[in-house]
This record gives sequence, structure tokens and C-alpha cells, in this order.
Amino acid sequence: MSPPAPGVLISEVGPRDGLQSVATAMPTAAKCAWIAALHAAGLREIEVGSFVSPKRLPQLADTAAVVRHAVTLPGLTVMVLVPNRTGADAAIAAGVHKLTLPLSASEAHSLANVGRTPQQMLAQIGEVHALRRERAPGVAFEVGLSTAFGCTLQGPVAEDEVIRLAVAAAEAGADEVGLSDTTGMANPAQVRRLFSRLFAELGERAGAAHLHNTRGLGLANCLAAYDAGVRTFDASLGGLGGCPYAPGASGNVVTEDLVFMFEAMGVATGVDLPGLIAARAALQQGLPGEPLYGMLPDAGLPKGFVPATTPLRGSAA
Ligand code: ZN
Repeated sequence: MSPPAPGVLISEVGPRDGLQSVATAMPTAAKCAWIAALHAAGLREIEVGSFVSPKRLPQLADTAAVVRHAVTLPGLTVMVLVPNRTGADAAIAAGVHKLTLPLSASEAHSLANVGRTPQQMLAQIGEVHALRRERAPGVAFEVGLSTAFGCTLQGPVAEDEVIRLAVAAAEAGADEVGLSDTTGMANPAQVRRLFSRLFAELGERAGAAHLHNTRGLGLANCLAAYDAGVRTFDASLGGLGGCPYAPGASGNVVTEDLVFMFEAMGVATGVDLPGLIAARAALQQGLPGEPLYGMLPDAGLPKGFVPATTPLRGSAA
């Protein structure tokens, strides 16, 4: 009997979002061991790296090798970040299943992050879509709208502009468009409002929530996004990472805590919490001394905890 379909998809971004913010480069073999441990815990979508200039992010220079390992893990969607057509070309050649391209809603962040305006990035999205259609129509293509909830450089970002860019990105060829709280400025009311508007505009093409815990609102924001209809959530094991081009921003939502919240609510993730805790050892081995976060790993599972994926004792199933 196959397990029940997960209620939500947890997309692990540590090997990309996490590692790009750490100065030390994790050895390739350690990355592969960590990704294998994440997969063994039940994660079925992992952002394993980024095809950007190795001069800009030397920590991710081995992404092609990491992809070649990750695609051997059964049932895993192997995703990478690409900033442009050149990156998408390399990613498709490496054999990825899914591309994610960041589009900043803030012009200041866009220029700092990728050296292009949001409008110029929309043209890149069109080019990536054309390339994908021609060379790898089976590869999925998602756009993540970064600084959608505010920008450390520019301050508030107009919600109408976020929605306008999301619609434009979908029109330019992205399968799905998600919203990212790159700088950790979001609150639950804002998350509920913006994702509701995104669903109203894009329907099933409304994508993932990428939320940060910079000011302690990570899980509250994830719950607000869930209430608004989101079913894919980015998170990072041990809360590793943030964004190196947004001063003061740190702290992806901790995968362990997010999985615990959903499982405790009865929303299946398909992820095994003890397996996730075990994956921390693989991460720690590859990055000795790097601080890891998470409340669940510190406190442990509550006595008598029953995950959502386990059939209730005595049930006929
Ligand atoms: Zn992040």
C-alpha cells in the first residue's frame, strides 16, 4: 500500500539558499551525503545548488556534480536556481528536473542581486522559457518573487507591483510564481492578503511560499500562507541561510520546526522527523562549527506524538 498523498510539499533549500550564505565551501562529497540524508528523511524536492558565476558564489561552483548525484535518488525533484539563460542552459545540460529563477519586486534589490532591473529580468524569464520549451520541455520552471514583502534597501514594496510582476512572470512563461520574504519583513496578515491576491490572479499557477524567520514570524507566516491556499513551502534544515545581498537578513524557516507544525496539525508532509534530525549530523559533518537553529531539535518530540502520515492505532486501514 502506498502512503497517503502528502498534504503539503516541503521544498528543502538548504543546499542552495543555506550554503550560499556560508563563507566556507562544503566539500562536494559532504553535500551529496547531506542531500542523501534529506532524501532518506522523505523530502521529495530539494534545491541542490545554483548555476551562477563561480566567481560570485564559489561555494556553489560544484553544482553540476551535485546534480549528477541528486538525480540518482528515486522520486526526488532536483531543483536549481538560475539567474538567466546561461545558467538555465548549464542546468538543463546537467540534467535537473526543475529551474527556479528569482525575480526581485524591489528594483534596488534586483540591481544588487542580479545586476538587472525587474523589467530586464522579465525578458530573461521569457528567454529561459523559450530555451526550456526547445531543449527540455519536461523540465519545470518556477519564478520566485523575492522581496515580495519588503526590501532592506528600498523599504516597503507596493503590493500592486508584486502582483503585476507575478502576472507578468507567468505570462512570460513561468509554470508557477511563488512569493519570497527574502528580507524577513513579512507579517501573517500581509502574507494571507498577498497570497490570496496571487491565487485570485494565477489560480493553480500560484507557487511556493519562501518565508524567513528573521523576526520570529516564520511559522506564523507559513500558517497564514497555508490558510490562503499555499501547499508548497520552502525551508532550510537547521535554518541555514538567508540572503547575502540583503543586509541584516538571515534565517530561513527551519525545516524541522515547519514539518513538526504541519504533522502536529494532521497535515501530512511525507517527511520523517527522526530522519530529519539525523540529517542534521550530515550537515554538521560538512560544515563543522556552523550554528544550526530549530526549536523542535532542541526540545525533542512531545510524548505520545503521532505524525500525520502514521495511520491511527486500531484503524482498519
Ligand atoms: Zn531564503
